Amino acid sequence: MRASGIPCWLSDLDWVIQHLPGCSLSLPPLPIISEESILALIKSITAETNSRLQTEIDYSNRLALLQHRLEPQKTGPNKLITRTLRHYLTHVYKSHHRLSLTRLLCGDMVPITFHSSPARIHSLNLDENHSKRCRACLSPLQPESPQHVLLQCTANAAITTLRNEFLVDVAVFIPLPTTRTFTNVESLYYLKAFIFNWSTVRRVARFIHEVVVIWKAFTHQELDGSYDESSNEND
Ligand SMILES: [Zn+2]
Repeated sequence: MRASGIPCWLSDLDWVIQHLPGCSLSLPPLPIISEESILALIKSITAETNSRLQTEIDYSNRLALLQHRLEPQKTGPNKLITRTLRHYLTHVYKSHHRLSLTRLLCGDMVPITFHSSPARIHSLNLDENHSKRCRACLSPLQPESPQHVLLQCTANAAITTLRNEFLVDVAVFIPLPTTRTFTNVESLYYLKAFIFNWSTVRRVARFIHEVVVIWKAFTHQELDGSYDESSNEND
């Protein structure tokens, strides 16, 4: 049927392969289809798909937390792996903590929850000032990035208290500056370090979730004046 140009499952499969994003492959011609040629095709599709995904991650500002990610291994040094079952999906047991961390990593909290992407580690220019500056400290050129709210901003007392407790907790596993204060560059570095460490990922997932709950309540109050720190979000 395929040789005659009649639609069939084999031609459907060929269409799907040819339309994979960034993929330039297709099924081999019928005369040379074999177990070996199909295994080689699967290997090529895997390599091209991984390359395409990695390129998209590397060039997306919203995915800055995933850039240069090294996956923790049970033994040996961390490795760059484009697709795998991520450690935070198996090590963070509470679903709402896991969901908050996953949303943050996948860029789902920018620009609604946090106005600036994690890639914003430099001061804002004047044109960006009103749309992207931190709504809590109102520092004129300070981007409201996730890492700023989580690790730098001291304008919200509840978040600052949570942060201090969290940093005491994780300092056992990751050496921290004695001042426990971070520059823009350092806050991105340490947030990634906390997430991509098997010993701290559960703690940082809980911290992120609790800060996001407080932050959403605070920014909601900015809109309608009804800030309530006790409000909760169990997605
Ligand atoms: Zn701030």
